[in-house]
Amino acid sequence: MGEEVLSIEGLHKRFGALEATRDVSLDLRAGEIHALIGPNGAGKSTLIAQIAGSLRPDAGRIHLAGRDITGLGVAARARLGLGRSFQVSSLAEPLSALRNVMIGAQARAGHSFRFWTPVARDARLVTPARKALERVHLGQRADTPVAALSHGERRQVEVACALVLEPRALLLDEPMAGLGPEGSGRLTELLETLKREVPILLIEHDMDAVFRLADRLSVLVDGHVIAHGGSDAIRRDPRVQEAYLGD
Ligand code: ADP
Ligand code: MG
Repeated sequence: MGEEVLSIEGLHKRFGALEATRDVSLDLRAGEIHALIGPNGAGKSTLIAQIAGSLRPDAGRIHLAGRDITGLGVAARARLGLGRSFQVSSLAEPLSALRNVMIGAQARAGHSFRFWTPVARDARLVTPARKALERVHLGQRADTPVAALSHGERRQVEVACALVLEPRALLLDEPMAGLGPEGSGRLTELLETLKREVPILLIEHDMDAVFRLADRLSVLVDGHVIAHGGSDAIRRDPRVQEAYLGD
């Protein structure tokens, strides 16, 4: 396995009486897809939010490329190389795919763009945004309004938004949600290629895609990792079948 890019140790998050994540540790290594699976409400999105910096953990540490980023905000983490997509889509429908990716870059990088004039800012973002769209095989659709894209293409634009700052690690929260077999097949192929350049922590309910893509899996139930391993081991694990796959 490749070198460790992202590591989280003992992440704990409480919402009142609810322990949304309990002592969660895992890592992400160069070249891999590490899938995080588990039933609804298991704490998967809460975990991603703590890694991305939009939620503060009550305990635990997060390291990116060896650097402790636990105390940093969302934009600082994005600038240091954490790219993420969201479970719920937030693309601007009337705007082009390219413009959406540029907005995604600005939203993620935060104040570092604030002091630029709009023209200078745009000029600096066009090239990376086009490149990100090419990486998700949407180079030809860059100038198409998002409203005219298929559901699958929109999901690809969201991945491009996560890629535009050239992340060291990618956090994808249910990128296949709502896609038919064709769309999810295309995205699966894309992620298979992409992981060679940037490792992916993948939350996904589409188990065919997960078992095809994941080099390793962690199973989260009630905020806690109950099993960890390769696809075959996880598929066979009786605790996993009982808690998740059986239903
Ligand atoms: P998953 O992504 O695995 O479906 P979530 O991380 O969204 O699960 O949610 C885990 C648990 O934490 C759920 O019980 C959810 O209701 C609760 N939760 C998530 N966010 C908040 C919040 N901001 N305040 C209170 N409870 C929350
Ligand atoms: Mg979720």
